[in-house]
Amino acid sequence: MTTNPDLAALIRTIPDFPKPGILFRDISTLLLDRQGFATAIERMVAAIPGPIDLVAGIEARGFIFAAALAVPLGAGLLLIRKDGKLPGVTVAEEYELEYGRDRIAMHADACVPGARVLLVDDLIATGGTARAALRLLRRTGAAVVQAQFVVDLPDLGGAAALRADGLDVHALVSFPGH
Ligand code: AMP
Repeated sequence: MTTNPDLAALIRTIPDFPKPGILFRDISTLLLDRQGFATAIERMVAAIPGPIDLVAGIEARGFIFAAALAVPLGAGLLLIRKDGKLPGVTVAEEYELEYGRDRIAMHADACVPGARVLLVDDLIATGGTARAALRLLRRTGAAVVQAQFVVDLPDLGGAAALRADGLDVHALVSFPGH
C-alpha cells in the first residue's frame, strides 16, 4: 500500500510505453488536477528537512515539480539537462541506460560550494539519472540535503542506491514492479 493513495489515484499507468514491458507512470494526469497538483507540492514542501538555497530539477518532467517547489521555498531553480542543451560552460556526468549510456549536465557556475540543494525528479526507477545528478552537484561543492520524487519504483532499487550514496530520499507515492 502506497502513502498518499489520493495522489497515486491521479497518476495514470500506460502499459508498453515507450516500449513493450514498461508500465509508464504518467504524471500528466496529476498535473491536470488542480487540487491534486497543489496537494502534491504542499506535501513535498512539508517533507523537506530544512532551508533550501536551490532546487535542482532534472529534465524534463523534473523541471515542473522543481519549479513549483522553488517558489514557496524561496529558493532558486537549477536546471540539470541532457548534455549539449545548456549554452554556458558545463560539467557533465555519464550514466548507464538499459542499452548504452547517456550524459546529463549543469552549468559549472550554477551552484556555489556549500549551497543547500534539493534534488527533484518526477520518478526514480533504477536511479541512474538521479545518482548522476547527485555526482554532478557534489562535484560543484553543493550540500545536497534531500532528493524528492513524486513516484518511486522501489523494486528497481534506485531509492535504496541513493540512500547508500548518503542521501535522504522522499517520494510521495510508490508502485510495486517495473
Ligand atoms: P532511472 O534513471 O532508471 O531512475 O529513470 C528515471 C527517469 O526515467 C525519470 O526521469 C523518469 O521520468 C523516467 N522513467 C523511468 N521509468 C519510468 C516509468 N516506468 N514511468 C515513467 N517514467 C519513467
